[in-house]
Amino acid sequence: MTPRRVSILGATGSVGLATLDLIGRAEPGTYDVVALTARSNAEELARQAVRHKAAHVAIADPQAGIALKQALSDHPEITIGIGEPAVVEAAAMPADWTMAAIVGAAGLRPTLAALQQGRALAFANKECLVCAGSLFMTEAARCGATLLPVDSEHNAVFQVFDGAQRSAIRSITLTASGGPFRTWSRERMMQASRADALAHPTWDMGAKITIDSASMMNKGLEIIEACWLFDLPPEQVDVVVHPQSIVHGMVEYADGSLLAQLGSPDMRTPIASALAWPERMAAPVERLRLAEIARLDFEAPDLERFPAIRLAREVIKAGGIAPAVLNAANEIAVESFLADRIRFLDIAACVEEVLALSAGDADMPRSLSAFDDVYAIDARARQLARDLIADRISDPQSRTTSS
Ligand code: NDP
Repeated sequence: MTPRRVSILGATGSVGLATLDLIGRAEPGTYDVVALTARSNAEELARQAVRHKAAHVAIADPQAGIALKQALSDHPEITIGIGEPAVVEAAAMPADWTMAAIVGAAGLRPTLAALQQGRALAFANKECLVCAGSLFMTEAARCGATLLPVDSEHNAVFQVFDGAQRSAIRSITLTASGGPFRTWSRERMMQASRADALAHPTWDMGAKITIDSASMMNKGLEIIEACWLFDLPPEQVDVVVHPQSIVHGMVEYADGSLLAQLGSPDMRTPIASALAWPERMAAPVERLRLAEIARLDFEAPDLERFPAIRLAREVIKAGGIAPAVLNAANEIAVESFLADRIRFLDIAACVEEVLALSAGDADMPRSLSAFDDVYAIDARARQLARDLIADRISDPQSRTTSS
């Protein structure tokens, strides 16, 4: 059997490391690791490259590049790229399967470069589809790339979505754990600390997506992602809160059947599904014991306490630049919350304000017809969000949480 050539973008992150864990457990000769990339974690990148005999590594941060060279000085067989363009070049190296697991809009250029090779692309980086869904899907079709959803909810839907019966599909449902604040009052959420928001009840993930889960912006981004991946209007994409995170996604058919995928909350299941697709492979995840779990609960999301879902639906409706603005504003707001510069409820408030500001902003590009437009919209929306947050810090009375 010829080994499968695989590359992992965001190899040092939560999804990247889970992917490498699966690759490391496979029979020798199953995979050839072509390229691994990271932003600044040189030590982990070097460790993974040596462990998996990667041919090439690339790191975005030039300072970290020095440390990477040192860490790999005994491994001249591993070639090294440094700087953001080097990450894009690594993504474009010939491979059969690429995991797109860079967090945020920073993943746009590398993910696009991988997609343009027309290969199987395991898609974790939802922000790409949020910012540039139409351009990405058009480019994927043009290049003959196969998109394999990795987000657990989308992977679940993918597994039970019968494309041949598309006209009989009534809706799809993404489940949400509800995050750490599912049962908190709005008053209590106003005081939520960084540690509170990072304490996810069921999933162990990177910091940005963990905060997005706490605000339920993650579910908002996922609604947008699902519309693109499954070519459905937002009215056919439902969300239900399911605190146990056992049922990940469902497809409802016209005959009343509701097909669901269930599994332990462990990303190695959806990653294994995408890695082995269209086959199945073993994954070292805890088996589901339904009698022990005993009950599965479902409830409607509270759109008052979690306005992010409403905002996401609004930007889908608005179309054009709005989803990219929402994403950029959210990235800056999350970063600011993690740096203790704003409070938890300021995140959604900041996103909503940047969306409003962008509508009348003379410097904001209006069209979204090429990837360059996306980068320009993203940059401008980040600036608006930074300015807004700086104003709030200098005028704490304007903070949502103090109103
Ligand atoms: P992490 O924060 O754990 O990891 C992010 C990865 O991206 C790291 O390898 C990081 O490198 C790299 N990276 C960050 N910024 C840049 C940059 N500017 N240039 C190049 N590389 C960069 O994130 P997660 O693994 O949690 O999430 C990755 C993506 O997958 C996100 O889009 C998330 O929404 C999605 N996802 C994650 C899930 C999860 O369980 N974690 C579940 C479903 C989807 P470094 O370590 O050096 O900073």
